[in-house]
Amino acid sequence: MQGASGLERAFRKVRLLLEGDERNPGLTRQDLERMVGYPERGQGPLSYTLPPQEGLEGVRAVRFFYYPKDPEVTLIIEVEDQQGRRHLRHLKWNGLAWISPPSGLKSELVPTREVLPEGYTEIGGDYFVGFSSEEAHDLAERIYLGEAGGQKYLLCPQDSTRIFYGPSVAPAGLICPVCGNTSLLFKAIPMEVSRRPQGPQSPGEERLEHKLEILVEQNRELQKQLGDLISLLKRNLG
Ligand SMILES: [Zn+2]
Repeated sequence: MQGASGLERAFRKVRLLLEGDERNPGLTRQDLERMVGYPERGQGPLSYTLPPQEGLEGVRAVRFFYYPKDPEVTLIIEVEDQQGRRHLRHLKWNGLAWISPPSGLKSELVPTREVLPEGYTEIGGDYFVGFSSEEAHDLAERIYLGEAGGQKYLLCPQDSTRIFYGPSVAPAGLICPVCGNTSLLFKAIPMEVSRRPQGPQSPGEERLEHKLEILVEQNRELQKQLGDLISLLKRNLG
């Protein structure tokens, strides 16, 4: 766990450098260019290794790679942990701040989860947190049998991972144990389709079902926004 917390500290430090706080402004593209020596040292990509400093004690190195000519990825951050594993983050400068590149490359400044975070149990591709091992297995079985209608869970929109949480857990603080995503959707197993007399679905079908759920959710949200927009327009015209 020592290694994991060192990695977390390093990512916190990197985020502080990029985003700044009340005392320090965040790193701009110009700051980055000064750090790597662009354009004097060439057209890139150019690298810069952060000097040892508070917050980076728990990792081997943090390196910034600057891509001046790349329209999508401006900066790749490489955090090398004590075991020599490299954790890459891809960022794009939008003129004001560092944002995720449009290609969906990994950009969140949180440690990559190599091992399951504490408290998570994995059963059949689903994750359970806040349950004893026995409770988790009971629940997994009820879900499998279609007898868990109404059971709440979090869904990761990036990889369709389901995270079931116990009553003692604050779901807002949970992350996807697979990809580290913190923006999870609140879901519940529907009552009406919780019984599946024809047996369990294949993982492919379940994945498709999750994708559909996400689409339905997004559609609902769009319809709501459209409705708001229309009533706003009507009010302005009337
Ligand atoms: Zn995920």
